[in-house]
Amino acid sequence: MTTRELRKLLEGLPHIELGLNPTPLHRLRNLERKLGHRPIFIKRDDLNGLGIGGNKVRNLEFLLGEALAQGADCVIASGMLQSNLCSLAAAGCRRAGLRCLLVHNNRPPERLEGNMVLNHLLAAEHHYLGDVDSSLREQYAQELYERLQAQGSRPYLIRNGASDGAGLLGYVQAAVELAEQLEQGGEPADIAHVCIPGGNGGLAAGMIFGAALLGRPFEVELVTVEYDEAELRPILRHFFSELARIMGCRPDGDPEEAFTLHTDFRCGGWGLIDDEVTDFLYDFAQTEGIFVEKVYTGKTLYGMVKLLERGYFEDRGVCYLHSGGMGALFTQF
Ligand SMILES: *Cc1c(COP(=O)(O)O)cnc(C)c1O
Repeated sequence: MTTRELRKLLEGLPHIELGLNPTPLHRLRNLERKLGHRPIFIKRDDLNGLGIGGNKVRNLEFLLGEALAQGADCVIASGMLQSNLCSLAAAGCRRAGLRCLLVHNNRPPERLEGNMVLNHLLAAEHHYLGDVDSSLREQYAQELYERLQAQGSRPYLIRNGASDGAGLLGYVQAAVELAEQLEQGGEPADIAHVCIPGGNGGLAAGMIFGAALLGRPFEVELVTVEYDEAELRPILRHFFSELARIMGCRPDGDPEEAFTLHTDFRCGGWGLIDDEVTDFLYDFAQTEGIFVEKVYTGKTLYGMVKLLERGYFEDRGVCYLHSGGMGALFTQF
């Protein structure tokens, strides 16, 4: 499939415009000098123009597009207090003219900080469940959905941190966008590998499926920050079949073979980190004047740098996808 054909296919599915796409692609020249490798690019999905920016803006373009197409009048999203999804969902709902309800598996905060400051400015409606696990939170969100329906509202529920259904299309679109940036020639044409984070796996599944549909214009290097290999592979497999169903097409090659999974940089799982990666966050900020945080972006970039130092990329061009998370950064130090 060509980039033009894939773009056309995505444009035929319900979506709204929320982000400033295409997001910027630029060189990290100080890092290049430091590591003795060229080129190293960064794709700035952290600068995509809604709320404080980040990857979930792309998922929300398709999720809120579907919500509006279904005639929804309110949206439910759920996550921890510092959820990047919750904050961007609240911002996206304001843009789309929808009411936003947020369900948190935490107690109400004593002090507003990080993403909660943004949610407060957006006047999102909060439901606090106390310290329960995420499956109970999802269950409560489902019950809230049913309660609102019974009251005559038309709610739309965002499940699984936006890594679900139409939300998966956001990073198929990112794959086309990046492929177009490479096709335009110039320096970006040298990008051979793209390093992306794996949390719930939605971003990864979209990017891999999109790249596979396009005949692999770049190699996807997936750095898991949450699950180990045995957990993540079946999740991705499920998302690939979801995408095939939603889009009505499949890549020629097997998407399960269209990426490399790197498990060395997860530091034991979601939200955990070790001293070396923490030191790296300082180091990168002081090298490039760009911030990465502890949960997603720091581990992914650290992984890319380590792979590079090990000679994994040989002399080929690489690109790091910055997925945002900047709201949460303000609570992490
Ligand atoms: C949610 C999130 C991701 C990971 O997305 P998944 O689709 O859950 O893998 C990466 N980076 C940031 C900043 C996020 O908020």
